[in-house]
Amino acid sequence: MSSLPARARDVAVVGGGPAGLFAAETIASHGHRVTVYDRMPSPARKFLLAGRGGLNLTHSEELTKFLNRYGDGADNVRAAVTDFPPDKLVAWANGLDAETFVGTSGRVFPRAMKASPLLRAWLRRLGGLGVAIKTRHLWTGLTASGGLRFEMSDGQTTEVHPDATLFALGGASWPKLGSDGEWVDIFKTAGIAVTPLAPANCGVLIPWSDIFRSRFEGAALKRIALRIGDVTQRGEVIITRHGLEGGAVYALGGEIRKALAKADTTIVSVDLKPDVTTDDIASRLAQPSRKDTMTNFLRKSLHLDPVAIGLLREAGPLEVGAALAKRVKSVPLRVSALAGIDRAISTAGGVQWRDLDDALMLRTKPGFFLAGEMLDWEAPTGGYLLQATFATAAKASAGLLAWLRSNG
Ligand SMILES: Cc1cc2nc3c(=O)[nH]c(=O)nc-3n(C[C@H](O)[C@H](O)[C@H](O)COP(=O)(O)OP(=O)(O)OC[C@H]3O[C@@H](n4cnc5c(N)ncnc54)[C@H](O)[C@@H]3O)c2cc1C
Repeated sequence: MSSLPARARDVAVVGGGPAGLFAAETIASHGHRVTVYDRMPSPARKFLLAGRGGLNLTHSEELTKFLNRYGDGADNVRAAVTDFPPDKLVAWANGLDAETFVGTSGRVFPRAMKASPLLRAWLRRLGGLGVAIKTRHLWTGLTASGGLRFEMSDGQTTEVHPDATLFALGGASWPKLGSDGEWVDIFKTAGIAVTPLAPANCGVLIPWSDIFRSRFEGAALKRIALRIGDVTQRGEVIITRHGLEGGAVYALGGEIRKALAKADTTIVSVDLKPDVTTDDIASRLAQPSRKDTMTNFLRKSLHLDPVAIGLLREAGPLEVGAALAKRVKSVPLRVSALAGIDRAISTAGGVQWRDLDDALMLRTKPGFFLAGEMLDWEAPTGGYLLQATFATAAKASAGLLAWLRSNG
């Protein structure tokens, strides 16, 4: 792959998710001795879970549009994705026999949909490159001399002193899979600024009435638009026991989080007929049938399904008139909180960019590089999360290789 270094060096990668494994592959392919440490009994557990609903590796849309998916303050992520764009990730995955394809939505998946065949092939490749993976190694901090301290599952501790280190410790969603954000305190104690970790791409909590919850938990509201302030998102949501889940609500998560930082609750409204104007709805509702129940009338005149009608009722009694047409276009839902980070797809917040140089090395700790979801960025679902994870890993490992070259 590349020329061997004058001297093979010892590199520690802490965190064996996709960012850590990709960095390990890149660094080992340049001839260095790489050890990956992970606290769990096996690596990349979240990557495997991501594959359960279809591993959406990246997206096929045009790069400028793709880069705009990363919000304000994410210029470093945009720079990383520009250097390691979707076609490079696709080529890498296909090199591991993923046979990726572009789905109807433009999202890119491996033919098998799952992550497990890809991960198996990847771990074989890493083994071939001599990468050692030490599982059940919980990183607990730095030693006085700048080494790494680990605690093993038998309670023993060990210290290592690699020539360079790459941290890829992930965010804090689905903590039972390994990434629990405990690294935040260690970093803060070392004087590194960390934006608090918060759930992203997660559901919202809404206090449903008992009757609505018991009838519609698990039902989908399809082809709707959700709105908060002047931001609108079309898509689909699922009614959960305590609120809503699904693509449309995930996409508004950042706006909802901002609104909830200012007030205890916020209103998100649902447009049940985003392709029909209020006037058109009003005229369809103008002549109620005498023999139909309200439910049947709404079903026939607007093709609303039971869950949509249930949602209209949640907002108050149904009476035909202009107010009902407006309600169809804007059912108000009182959101009391974002759902917990335990089930969020990703994490907002992380190590702040000002403490990193352009190569993703900690300014105050030369030789320590960072990659993946532990950095301060967020993105919607659609393959943007894994793309940024891999791209920042490519950037940090290139930086680490250059640093090794110029330091000894
Ligand atoms: C349900 C679900 C579905 C998803 N689907 C998709 C999808 O289809 N497409 C997409 O783009 N993204 C998806 N994601 C997001 C994607 O999985 C993450 O963005 C990605 O895994 C982040 O990679 P990472 O390597 O930065 O962190 P992680 O994958 O979280 O890996 C971090 C690793 O660090 C280890 N670790 C943490 N702390 C320590 C410590 N102190 N000591 C030692 N080891 C430690 C953890 O055990 C873990 O193995 C999904 C996420 C979830 C939860």
